[in-house]
Amino acid sequence: MTLRFTVLASGSSGNASLIQTDAGAVLLDIGLGPRQLTERFAAVGASWEQIAAVLLTHTHGDHWSDRTLGLLRRRQIPLYCHPLHHPGLLGNGQQFQRLLDAGLVRDFDASRDFDLGGGLRCRALALSHDCQPTFGFRFEKQVALFGPPAALGYAADLGCWSPALAAALADVDLLAIEFNHDVGLEYASGRSAQLIYRVLGDGGHLSNAQAAALLEDILRRSTPGRLRHVVQLHLSRDCNRVSLAQEAARVVAQAANQELQIHSASQHRPGPTLLVGNSTRSVRPARRTSSTPRRRAAPTAAPWLPGFEP
Ligand SMILES: [Zn+2]
Ligand SMILES: [Zn+2]
Repeated sequence: MTLRFTVLASGSSGNASLIQTDAGAVLLDIGLGPRQLTERFAAVGASWEQIAAVLLTHTHGDHWSDRTLGLLRRRQIPLYCHPLHHPGLLGNGQQFQRLLDAGLVRDFDASRDFDLGGGLRCRALALSHDCQPTFGFRFEKQVALFGPPAALGYAADLGCWSPALAAALADVDLLAIEFNHDVGLEYASGRSAQLIYRVLGDGGHLSNAQAAALLEDILRRSTPGRLRHVVQLHLSRDCNRVSLAQEAARVVAQAANQELQIHSASQHRPGPTLLVGNSTRSVRPARRTSSTPRRRAAPTAAPWLPGFEP
């Protein structure tokens, strides 16, 4: 039994990630159109036939596509969203009403864990963002007879974080969090003052420094050695650099004396597919923009997952 995580696209032009179990797969956000999603699936050895459900973080336009909602209806794939997401989805396209009429909308709330099928448990975590409500998630799946379940934390599109969020993301094997911008580059971007203050505000996006502080707090709360992979999400094309985001995370890992593999998700290229949990059967090496420090991989690292080669 395995739990695997792949970012298909991340950034202000579209977001989608794939969470795969042996029983099927869940798409986290559908901020790409059907054709692009199909191409990204093909690039990572996945297909629409595997998709058992779609889960929505929030209703900003880079996280869902009306045309993709239409494809969900045709393929009879349920959409999990919050009841307060309905107005935003109804008001910006035709397909959500059709999905409702087809009985394919499942509501979640943040007070109760829910099951996405195949033994994949999910907890919604409220995030501070200017599109309410916005959620991060903690996913867990039992992948071995003994020991704790494999755990994956995901939080993007948030302007600030709280100790409660750090606690909810502690003791995961893979942490995907937003490293949106460098504050200096944001100020120097030439963007309008309104946009700059929106991004920097509590309802905007996490800076590299904020995300590093969140990572530090999560590590402090976690069992040493449990967290293996950090996936950096939603990097700003104009106001961030992979090198800056990676350095921010690397400093935290070194200070905490933790061996982390740090990956920066791309807007244009999917992957890599990372195995969550089962740390002795770790992942394939990071790709070009991913970062893994140049030192040798841990001796427990395994080759690429069969069927998931680039
Ligand atoms: Zn976004
Ligand atoms: Zn957003």
